[in-house]
Amino acid sequence: LRVSPVEVIKRLMTNGVMAGQNQTIDYDTAALVAVELGFEPELEAAAEPEPGTPLIEPEEEPDDPASLKPRPPVVTILGHVDHGKTSLLDAIRKTRVAAGEAGGITQHIGAYQVERDGQLITFIDTPGHAAFTAMRARGAQVTDIAVLVVAADDGVMPQTVEAINHAKAAGVPIIVAINKIDLPAANPDRVKQQLTEYGIVVEEYGGDTVCVPVSAATGQGIGDLLEAINLVAEISELKANPNRPGSGVVIEAELDPHRGPIATVLVQRGTLRQGDAVVVGETSGKVRAMLDDTGKRVKEAGPSTPVVILGLEDVPEAGDRLRVVADEKVARQIVEERKRQREAQEQTQHARVNLDTLFNEISAGKLKELIIILKTDVRGTAEAIKGALERLSTPEVKIRIIHAATGPVTDNDVMLAEASNGIIIGFNTRVEPGAKKRAEAVGVEIRTYNIIYQLLEDIEKALQGMLEPVY
Ligand code: GDP
Repeated sequence: LRVSPVEVIKRLMTNGVMAGQNQTIDYDTAALVAVELGFEPELEAAAEPEPGTPLIEPEEEPDDPASLKPRPPVVTILGHVDHGKTSLLDAIRKTRVAAGEAGGITQHIGAYQVERDGQLITFIDTPGHAAFTAMRARGAQVTDIAVLVVAADDGVMPQTVEAINHAKAAGVPIIVAINKIDLPAANPDRVKQQLTEYGIVVEEYGGDTVCVPVSAATGQGIGDLLEAINLVAEISELKANPNRPGSGVVIEAELDPHRGPIATVLVQRGTLRQGDAVVVGETSGKVRAMLDDTGKRVKEAGPSTPVVILGLEDVPEAGDRLRVVADEKVARQIVEERKRQREAQEQTQHARVNLDTLFNEISAGKLKELIIILKTDVRGTAEAIKGALERLSTPEVKIRIIHAATGPVTDNDVMLAEASNGIIIGFNTRVEPGAKKRAEAVGVEIRTYNIIYQLLEDIEKALQGMLEPVY
């Protein structure tokens, strides 16, 4: 590499590897350092595999387009606190009781389904963008459509804006539900007006965002909202192949004192069946029993269906992926392998963007966009810095500010950065202790500045690979 050992050790340290000059490091770590120094590492043709060589997990095969069938949309409700997310979920849930559906009482399992005009809709029962982005940060995209709730008497509030930006970062279509229209102080027009400032233009203003006035309290407009969801779902042409082994994602999980680990899984592809051997994150098991959202035993569950499964060895985490494998033995092997890989990866925490390695990533063609979350003391500054940063975009790399707001850097910001592989810039603002801890744990870079030109200079230098590393 033609650099001094000290240089290599420094690089290792910034990647969280504490190694001395005479220590052996593994290929991945070595490759990482080499890439950072502008080299292209190549693994020599492997000799005999070592004992305990990883069992390569079979990739999920892509589906033949002809095998794809329409599936219900999966909807998450987002919005500012107290604008009625929970009430709306309750009101929607009640429509099935009103429809006289068998087993009308819904268990809380983290998700539920309702029917409208013969179409099923799946709702994620944990509202808010924190949960939504936490899942994304773990690599699980579950939501097809976001319903943005805005109280008609209160209008667009800071978390409304956060929710918009989190939904946009996920690339999920937004439907606006203007809630509390039963209140005398309700002013839906003001809400629509305010939303345009954040790039949400409703249909009657010439935009393409569907907007439905509702009241979670009286039930007014709930049917219209469900129809709007069906409409947007139809446009999105959501499809999956039900005729393959099931796979999906954990919505929530807990240890039940009587039944052992239980997990609500949203099936995303294929069909999950009782008796299937499954791997879920870092645990495995056999599906001993499955319950639907009314608590009824079911034998199988297809795409977009939430089910509670019993029979796992351990409690998985929300966001963990589930997949069906040949048998329990294979399941256990895969779990072992996953644990091993995670441990190896933890030793060489990398892969996240940071300014020090930005240039190498750009040069290697791996990075086309620098995603930034910007927090400032006052709104005017946010706008000014946002504009100035965007102008630093080069033909090689575009600078995209996916969220700019006032206030301290929070846990939610870190999650958004994690989910979007971005960095956080704080200007004249503090970093909440929880956010700092999380950022360190997951390797998200937070930079704080008090002087604009220094901020801009750092980014500019980072883009050119001229930033002095800080140790
Ligand atoms: P969340 O924090 O967004 O989940 O909001 P909640 O569902 O907890 O609702 C906050 C408050 O607003 C509660 O006191 C609800 O009873 C009330 N609320 C929710 N929806 C409506 C509505 O449509 N009309 C009226 N008048 N009050 C509502």
